[in-house]
Amino acid sequence: MSNTKDNKYIYDFNEGNKDMKNLLGGKGANLAEMTNLGLKIPPGFTLTTEACLIYYSNADELMEELKPSVIKHLKTLEINTGKKFGDERNPLLVSVRSGGPISMPGMMDTVLNLGLNDISVLGFAEQTDNPRFSYDSYRRFIQMFGDVVMGIGDEKFERILDKYKRNIGRNAQDTDLEVIDLQKIIADYKTLYEKEIGSLFPQDPLNQLFLSIEAVFKSWNNKRAITYRKINKIPDYGTAVNIQSMVFGNKGWNSGTGVAFSRDPSTGENIQFGEYLTNAQGEDVVAGIRTPKKLETMKEEFPEVYKELLETMDKLERHYKDMQDIEFTIDEGELKILQTRNGKRTPSAAVKIAVDMVKEGLITKEEAIMRIDPKKISKLLFKSIDENSIIHVLAHGINASPGAVSGKAVFDSDRAEKLANDGKKNIILVRPQTKPEDIHGLYASSGVLTQFGGKTSHAAVVARGMGKPAVVGAQDVEIDEEKQEFRVNEMVIKEGQWITIDGTTGRIIEGKVNLVEPEIKGEFLELLDIADSIKTMGVRANADTPEDAKKAIEFGAQGIGLTRTEHMFMAKERLPVMQKMIMSRTKEERQDALNKILPMQKGDFLEIFKIMEGKPVTIRLLDPPLHEFLPELSTVLLENQELKMTNELSKSLLKNNPLDEEIAKKSKVISLIRSLSEENPMMGLRGCRLGIVWPEINEMQVKAIFQAACELKRKGIDVIPEIMIPLVGMLSELQYVKAQLMQVALETIKEYDVELDYTFGTMIEIPRAALTADEIAIEAEFFSFGTNDLTQMTYGFSRDDAEGKFIPVYLNKEILDNNPFEILDQDGVGKLMKMAIKLGKRTRPDLKTGICGEHGGEPSAVKFAHSIGLDYVSCSPFRIPVAKIAAAQAVIEQRSS
Ligand code: PEP
Ligand code: MG
Repeated sequence: MSNTKDNKYIYDFNEGNKDMKNLLGGKGANLAEMTNLGLKIPPGFTLTTEACLIYYSNADELMEELKPSVIKHLKTLEINTGKKFGDERNPLLVSVRSGGPISMPGMMDTVLNLGLNDISVLGFAEQTDNPRFSYDSYRRFIQMFGDVVMGIGDEKFERILDKYKRNIGRNAQDTDLEVIDLQKIIADYKTLYEKEIGSLFPQDPLNQLFLSIEAVFKSWNNKRAITYRKINKIPDYGTAVNIQSMVFGNKGWNSGTGVAFSRDPSTGENIQFGEYLTNAQGEDVVAGIRTPKKLETMKEEFPEVYKELLETMDKLERHYKDMQDIEFTIDEGELKILQTRNGKRTPSAAVKIAVDMVKEGLITKEEAIMRIDPKKISKLLFKSIDENSIIHVLAHGINASPGAVSGKAVFDSDRAEKLANDGKKNIILVRPQTKPEDIHGLYASSGVLTQFGGKTSHAAVVARGMGKPAVVGAQDVEIDEEKQEFRVNEMVIKEGQWITIDGTTGRIIEGKVNLVEPEIKGEFLELLDIADSIKTMGVRANADTPEDAKKAIEFGAQGIGLTRTEHMFMAKERLPVMQKMIMSRTKEERQDALNKILPMQKGDFLEIFKIMEGKPVTIRLLDPPLHEFLPELSTVLLENQELKMTNELSKSLLKNNPLDEEIAKKSKVISLIRSLSEENPMMGLRGCRLGIVWPEINEMQVKAIFQAACELKRKGIDVIPEIMIPLVGMLSELQYVKAQLMQVALETIKEYDVELDYTFGTMIEIPRAALTADEIAIEAEFFSFGTNDLTQMTYGFSRDDAEGKFIPVYLNKEILDNNPFEILDQDGVGKLMKMAIKLGKRTRPDLKTGICGEHGGEPSAVKFAHSIGLDYVSCSPFRIPVAKIAAAQAVIEQRSS
């Protein structure tokens, strides 16, 4: 059994501090810090995460030494509060709350009002002079204990509660229940408890406490907590348990409970933001049972508390140097703080807060960059509804997490998960409200719509954390879970029907609508400027067309790292010429077709070079196998069959064969497709091999590139073309292709009589090229790692099949930690990259190196690229901001390591 040196498993709040999160959990550490700051924190103590881990290694039993220690700390608490645990007249009531080292909102369990029983409820009523409050507290305790500790479903208790509320009236609230109702509810609750558990509701407070501690320990490993940890890659730390003397928001209309943020978690604006409910307790706000009041209302309702709350938030924010998310209770007009933590925020709020805090002098530029999760930055580029399109707004809800998304309505989390696993995208989860057990449904969906709850409800908080659009509290949306549909006025939306939600404005819209792409501006732009001032690696874009190049510039690309020229052949009007070229029988025929393609390609290069204004542009020569430009064999066979049948008919009826010529042409295409088809085209005639077997194509491409470049040069426009030869595995391949193309380049430059800077380089995407990089570098002036192919060939995983066939199984069985086509395999593929750089630079010290596979925009790969000294990464234009921030973080992390 592992334990601390001094066997200390419990800390009073005044013994800890904010840096003890691993031992005391986030909540416990911050309660300790706030206690030491002199804030009004109800006293209490924390059982450490270590005690939780020992509980698990101890065959799920509380350690013997823990119990006397809990009793000892309870005694201190009694002295601090002047109350006695289990006392019949003046009982000390406590909350028992979970709290792991990393915040997992709503994933684990909490028990409130612990310490009440049939006798002390009377004394408590007398002592507080508030019987309604006393019985309400006992009712809540039995419900929470029964559900959380003993596993009786909460809905069984809610059914009883609803019955009594309905007796009062159709729209009765919890707060309308009177003492007599509450007493009856308590009796019914106890009967339910006895029926479900087979014993009476426990009356001994110590027994209640130990059972609750155990339940909180157990909740670390409940299904939803495990799912949350898996999704968020949180290690198995164990949870701490906080035992804190109760303060009460349910004592009457002079009391309340709420949550507040020191800045707006949706927009990041420096405006304190919060919601609260009067005469309510703990989880009522988060659960979204009643619609909460805005913080501004508190200014009127509790002016003193309002002022104190704002001051406290300010103090906490300055102390923690980050936006705080605070839980508070107003106990008969007195403010108590129950929790503070760095608040979850939307990606756009994260950016605004970080940039604003730099301007306010609260944090440094480096701290601002480190605050940003680059993975979430892509979500910043929210889509919005095209306001020029005609839309039918069904209803409005609360705009809880920004961005617009269209998807099919799904009313159940299990179903959403199943559909997502079956590869269905675009799901909008529609629920009355979400609970922690809906986490898998939220994860599987593209957005969430709820009927109830506010901006701090579970759905809102989780969606914001995930960066998904959410509209909550849409009261006009009546959900019928049984029928799997919702109704708005006369309109019914059933499962599978398209809807659109706009989390920026709160609109709910019928059907699929046109969405428009975002722009980068304001604080986002400022943050990227900060990243640019820190990062040392270049960030380029993969861009195949002039449109892509424009996007690349808009997103701040410092060049193009990969132009896949095959897309220039695929355009509708170009494909027939390309097919003609492939089908040519003579060199002349082929040259004729290529002569037609040349001006088209040249036109594209002219545009791209102009847009890039002298920034380097890496152009890759044709790479894919030629059969990709021809139609599918099965389609042509079918077409030919039909032609033959028509021809036969005509022969028998009209005695002529009008389709002979066409059939002959088709047959030629068929035999060509057959001759070009390969068992394994990814390993076949593609890349530089094409240029060796069919040299005219490369020659045409290089001519088009250099003609375009020279023409611009003549006009005084700067151009830096980098010619990239793909799929090289041997020096001799590169030598052959380069020699031939250099000649074309030199001739063209001579023709135009200009000075032009250009380079010839290669992709490193075959392991042999990496292994012999010292040789390859004799001819290559740059290496660009094509990590898509390099991953395919290093693992021997077909990139076209593996992701759909066995990678999901490997991930599930934990044979792979990550999909290597998404997250660069640093141990294997990365090792080859390191080797290639070392060998290459041995031959050519000024060798330029970059990465242009899909990994180029993935934060961990970007950091790896920095660590091995690459000059640049190249990724799709939308990932440029992500790559820039990751590249800046890499510099900061390297400095501090
Ligand atoms: C690569 O292989 O990483 C690459 C960029 O080329 P493509 O994906 O076009 O094969
Ligand atoms: Mg490749």
